Amino acid sequence: MVDLNKPLEIAEDIFWVGYVVPNDPFQCHVYLIRNGDESILIDPGSMITFPVVLEKIFQVTPLRNIKYIIFHHQDPDIVGCYATLEQLFPRDRLRFVVTHWRTKTLLKHYMWKSPFYLVDKHDWKLKAGDRELEFVFTPYAHFPGAFCTFDKKTKTLFSSDLFGAISDKFFLFATDDEEYYQGVELFHKHYMPSRAILNYALDKVESKNPELIAPQHGSIIKKEMIKPIISRLRTLECGLYVLDSEESDIFTLNRLDELLKQLFRSVISSSDFELISQEIFKSIKKEIPSLKEMVITGGIKERGDKLSFVLRVDDRKVTQEVIEGKFSATNYAYKERLDSENLVNGAIYIFADKLSGKQLHFLKLLFKHIKYAVAVSFERREREAILLKEKEELEKRAITDYLTGLFNRQYLFDYLKETLKKAEEEGFPVAVALIDIDFFKRINDTYGHLTGDCVLKELAKILKGSFRESDCVARYGGEEFVVVMPHSNLENACKKMERVRQKTEETPFCEDKLKVTFSAGVTEFKPGESIESLLERADKNLYEAKKSGRNRVVCR
Ligand code: GH3
Ligand code: MG
Ligand code: MG
Repeated sequence: MVDLNKPLEIAEDIFWVGYVVPNDPFQCHVYLIRNGDESILIDPGSMITFPVVLEKIFQVTPLRNIKYIIFHHQDPDIVGCYATLEQLFPRDRLRFVVTHWRTKTLLKHYMWKSPFYLVDKHDWKLKAGDRELEFVFTPYAHFPGAFCTFDKKTKTLFSSDLFGAISDKFFLFATDDEEYYQGVELFHKHYMPSRAILNYALDKVESKNPELIAPQHGSIIKKEMIKPIISRLRTLECGLYVLDSEESDIFTLNRLDELLKQLFRSVISSSDFELISQEIFKSIKKEIPSLKEMVITGGIKERGDKLSFVLRVDDRKVTQEVIEGKFSATNYAYKERLDSENLVNGAIYIFADKLSGKQLHFLKLLFKHIKYAVAVSFERREREAILLKEKEELEKRAITDYLTGLFNRQYLFDYLKETLKKAEEEGFPVAVALIDIDFFKRINDTYGHLTGDCVLKELAKILKGSFRESDCVARYGGEEFVVVMPHSNLENACKKMERVRQKTEETPFCEDKLKVTFSAGVTEFKPGESIESLLERADKNLYEAKKSGRNRVVCR
């Protein structure tokens, strides 16, 4: 058992001379290197710890032997006692405040009497007797001028804030990897500004290959635990959700951080909005088990709109309305637009039974941080839907005849190719009809091309309405049409065609002005034959129909 009431030698001539403040999850350590009359005090601490620290220093070495006082940075928990301590030093000896120039710019305001020894002006080294210290610059972790001190003799690294921890239980030496790391993680992700900055510092630390790490906070780390802790810290996302301005409870912030990390990961890795919303749902459900339903609605941002989402919380039972999507995207965005002074692109509706004030608070906190990510991925989904629609539109246009809306010639051939192949494989009949309007030239000549077009369109409508959805009705050429009828034999196709011929004959065309007839050649596919040969036979029959008087159907 270590006796925390005494100075503890943690490495040769290096003493922990700190004081454990009761019930403080954020302990601050003071270290002393006994080195004859060039002894070195590291981060002397605050007025809270000072009386005990002073007592312990006396037990290690007389005050007059302390020649250097290292200040890794200027926070009050580190420098708070120095104005008092300085008064106690014998006047006849010079001693130095060892720090970085950035720290000096702040520390000078205390107007201490001790001169500065700037590490950056001394090649990041200090030689005190036969003790050699090296300084490791770790900028922004967490102060711009932050550095660590490395004792070459014992390979001890005084790591300042790096490797510190927040922990309810105090251990001077870290014993349990896992447990200590939890505190390290919690501390680093809210103290260190970013992963890049932390990794830069870790590189510097690793290059020294320390045997022991003596941080300012948390526990002292022995060799075997250093590597695993470094490797876990390397992947840590820091900058704890940019410390929410309204929330100061570190544990709430930490939970928020966990959720957000997970959410952002899914937003980044997936463009599937349904997946993302499921992820959001699961995250919220974890916090609010009574969550029943979540509906995200919104519309596309218009130029100049502020991209934003609102949160709506409702403890009504989930109604059918919601499930059926009454808050459909465009619809609801429009309503929000009217409802709200600010332009709003969408809303997340949360339906849950009896939200506690605490849950609601957390929900709002979470929402505040995810709303932009949600809005962006929601908008992306909406835009993708529009693109998809446009693509379908284009595809449809590529296979459609612009005048009649029937399939075009190109599609007809694709369709025939596929259908005939299937017919051969599965052994079903396919009938084909070639249709040509009678004396169409005359219609054009008498009534003009516009009326001619009208006739084409109206006949197309009759044809389209007369055949099965699965048949293919195509415009083959000027006033010629082809109908492909899978699963119809010659006899049935012929009967059908005859009915359509009669119907056409009886239908007045183009504002009751016109009587229009057509001739048709119908035939059936013979397995093995080509599309050309099939159409040729239909054409032959059509020619027969024309020759024998028009307005008739020839089947063969
Ligand atoms: P038949 O009974 O022998 O088929 O006589 P027809 O006049 O219908 O035959 P022909 O092939 O001589 O004439 C077809 C006409 O169709 C010629 C062309 O001007 C016209 N035509 C082709 N495409 C279009 C179109 O898109 N719109 C209009 N208005 N006319 C078209
Ligand atoms: Mg013709
Ligand atoms: Mg014709």
